[in-house]
Amino acid sequence: MILMNGSKIAKERNIGVSKLVEEALKKYSRRPNLAFILIGNNPASESYVKGKTKACELAGFDHVLYRMDEQVEEKEVIELIERLNHDNLVDGMILQLPIPKHLNSDYLIDLISKEKDADGFHVVNQGLLYQRKKSTPPATPKGIMSLLEHYNIPVSGKHAVVVGRSNIVGMPVASLLLAKDATITVCHRATPNLAEHTIKADILVVAVGKANLITKDMVKPGAVVIDVGVNRVNGKLYGDVDFENVKEVASYITPVPKGVGPMTINGLIENTFELYVEHMERQKM
Ligand code: NAD
Repeated sequence: MILMNGSKIAKERNIGVSKLVEEALKKYSRRPNLAFILIGNNPASESYVKGKTKACELAGFDHVLYRMDEQVEEKEVIELIERLNHDNLVDGMILQLPIPKHLNSDYLIDLISKEKDADGFHVVNQGLLYQRKKSTPPATPKGIMSLLEHYNIPVSGKHAVVVGRSNIVGMPVASLLLAKDATITVCHRATPNLAEHTIKADILVVAVGKANLITKDMVKPGAVVIDVGVNRVNGKLYGDVDFENVKEVASYITPVPKGVGPMTINGLIENTFELYVEHMERQKM
């Protein structure tokens, strides 16, 4: 079994981006700039934003954090997003999810200019992705594809089973795997006999949010297992996969933490760098 070291690969790739930034700086005279909008004081969100700003620093990006109160009125968030959309010094922005329930996250995300949609959640970017056209893909699926590529894992002709069908992980990762010529099965909460599907997977991607949902008997010997889940149980983090037992049958497996999490941040960094280059080139026109 090979442990897929997301932390190490993400760090190497972020350092790779920092070299591209130093080159780009000569041409564009400023660094990429990523804006974060953080609403409320959710401790998990605080920690994700901290991890993302640290990666921005490693990659040589500027970044700016806009904190908003838990009770903020939607019109204030709208005003901020619109201001950042028109700010020539901002290349990308992310609205850290989840946001308080009185705010409409779909509406707010689609208000972010698709040219500044560093997270790749905008409905137009998702449509482009599903039509296999150039898009900004969501950061987690992008990070998963980079992991597979790093370990030279063949995707074409393989059977990939994705458990979970969210817009930020399950559906877009299924689409990216399909674009690389895998045959796809997508399972979700209404799938009867989950194990009947997972056992057939050459590549198994699990993004559900239920600790130890996937047990050893549900995994084909030699499968590649990508565990996206993050579940906090008694202060400790667990994935969706029963790692200790599944690692005995998998050929490759991601740990939780230090697997998909850092690769997601790398996906965000690489997305932002691309948005920056496109933004700078547009401004030259
Ligand atoms: P979500 O709640 O939007 O979607 C969960 C999906 O799981 C749904 O499609 C649902 O149908 C499916 N599901 C629920 N119960 C199921 C069951 N018993 N069997 C099969 N499918 C079932 O979640 P999400 O936003 O996609 O996130 C999933 C998990 O991944 C969460 O733990 C989240 O914290 C984690 N996550 C991690 C990263 C990272 O960078 N590591 C990024 C995003 C999400």
